[in-house]
Amino acid sequence: MLLVEDDDGVGKALVEALATAGHRPTRVERGADALTGHHHADLVLLDLGLPDIHGLEVLRKLRKVTDLPVLVLTAHGDERSVVRGLRLGADDYLVKPVRLAELLARMEAVSRRAAARATPPPSVVEIDDVRIDLNARLVHVASELIPLTSKEFDVLAALAVRHGAAVSRQQLMDEVWGDAYLAISRSLDVHVAQLRGKLRRPGLLTTIRNFGYRLGG
Ligand code: CA
Repeated sequence: MLLVEDDDGVGKALVEALATAGHRPTRVERGADALTGHHHADLVLLDLGLPDIHGLEVLRKLRKVTDLPVLVLTAHGDERSVVRGLRLGADDYLVKPVRLAELLARMEAVSRRAAARATPPPSVVEIDDVRIDLNARLVHVASELIPLTSKEFDVLAALAVRHGAAVSRQQLMDEVWGDAYLAISRSLDVHVAQLRGKLRRPGLLTTIRNFGYRLGG
């Protein structure tokens, strides 16, 4: 991991603490060194107040070339920088002075999320006796093939890749129909109703009021 921190006191303390916790931190003091030195890192801890380039600018440049997890370190009360950092693609932020236990927990969380991003989505989703093959575009319920229209399958697939999670109507409509959603808002409900009828598994497809739908979970 790469620690970008110009303050010697903070930097040395963090390097020591992180090494004790089993990490292998490399510290650089300038933004320019972060931009050239991130290639071997699995995570970047980025201070925003750097002597050469502002940390947010470093982040913006990093995000053009890598989706490496980046945790931003900000001064107390600098909420504007936090918001800008998150918008620019920081995975999380910590307010200085950093508490080691919290830092380690956040590092673990962003690493886990980054690993999940790197894993391709499953090609087959199984919920009880419902089997959805996303590549072959086939659905079986209790081993029986269920004939779906192309749009019905698209709706089901958009839910299946996030099964167990709430998916908003907006997101479903954007994915299935593109951005022409105003015209077909009713259409989503119709397709969901048809899917429910065909799948014959009450409780499989849940309506979340004023939000959207969830498959399974
Ligand atoms: Ca600094």
